[in-house]
Amino acid sequence: MFKALVIEKDAAGYRAGVQTVDDSALPAGDVLVRVEWSTVNYKDGLAITGKSPVLRSFPLHAGIDFAGVVEASEDPRFKPGDRVVLNGWGVGESHSGGLAQKARVKADWLVPLPDGLTTRQAMAIGTAGYTAMLSVLALERHGLLPGAGDILVTGANGGVGSVAITLLAGMGHRVVASTGRIEEAEHLKALGAAEVIDRAELSAPGKPLGKERWAGVVDSVGSHTLANACAGTRYGGAVTACGLAQGLDFPGSVAPFILRGITLYGIDSVMAKPSVRMPAWERLARDLDLAKLEALTREITLEQAVQAGTDILAGRVRGRLVVDVNR
Ligand code: NDP
Repeated sequence: MFKALVIEKDAAGYRAGVQTVDDSALPAGDVLVRVEWSTVNYKDGLAITGKSPVLRSFPLHAGIDFAGVVEASEDPRFKPGDRVVLNGWGVGESHSGGLAQKARVKADWLVPLPDGLTTRQAMAIGTAGYTAMLSVLALERHGLLPGAGDILVTGANGGVGSVAITLLAGMGHRVVASTGRIEEAEHLKALGAAEVIDRAELSAPGKPLGKERWAGVVDSVGSHTLANACAGTRYGGAVTACGLAQGLDFPGSVAPFILRGITLYGIDSVMAKPSVRMPAWERLARDLDLAKLEALTREITLEQAVQAGTDILAGRVRGRLVVDVNR
């Protein structure tokens, strides 16, 4: 028997709560993992509250990511005692996930945890931090080197935003953080932001082209913010889009693309191939300032993850939450 944050939907309605369940509740898979840490991402908030239909089967254990230790494996790539991390692949959406003390998954979905990261640090990074790294790597492949100019990070106090600031500043970029929580400016500067702007500057409908301000952008907000970020990107610059905290829409124009030759990179962490995710985790282990990661991380229990689901959607979570599934 083990504890899991179970989401149910039936005649009694949609609900999420911690229950004690049997191993038979786990789906098929070739690796059984003893989960040590999980986290609460924006998507987990949607799943826990039912605010958006991200779950495709019920009952289901929530949690789109986890880090833990292999307990049993039918796949030769993993053996008991191996430390692993999992992000995405529909786990916590259509396959029971990481907000539980055990998970059974496909070996193909697991990444060996790089040396230098604990399972707790892996979940302090979580899907948000790994997506931030995928965004930073896209800017790097575009050729944006430190000194290229200002890099805008939107949703700065969120998980993706906080880790993106830490990574970019650590590499030597000048980072401008956009936030609706301007009272957190000192915290964002401690992570490495050189300048903090009010997100109201970017979130209202804007012009097709604006002043050329950004060499690059990491956007996790979407909607008018993304459109305005594109409109303010310098000639030949690059913008990454991974999120929709403001909205799913993209009310922009083609002007920045056809007049300034900017590039918009879509970032998906869920179905990214192992050849994409493994280097991202290696770079996180190498490049992320772990003291700064700790400064933006708060620890909660499995029971508290239910309320955290509501809080993250309401924009009340700063940085990253790690869930001790054994507490
Ligand atoms: P968080 O909730 O931690 O952060 C989102 C941040 O966006 C908030 O902290 C807030 O930052 C800002 N924000 C919230 N509401 C609004 C609004 N109405 N207008 C403008 N800004 C807003 O979420 P994550 O960082 O974990 O995820 C961010 C987004 O990225 C989500 O949409 C998520 O679904 C997506 N995502 C996508 C992935 C992918 O594979 N493509 C993977 C991971 C996440 P502040 O208070 O500083 O303004």
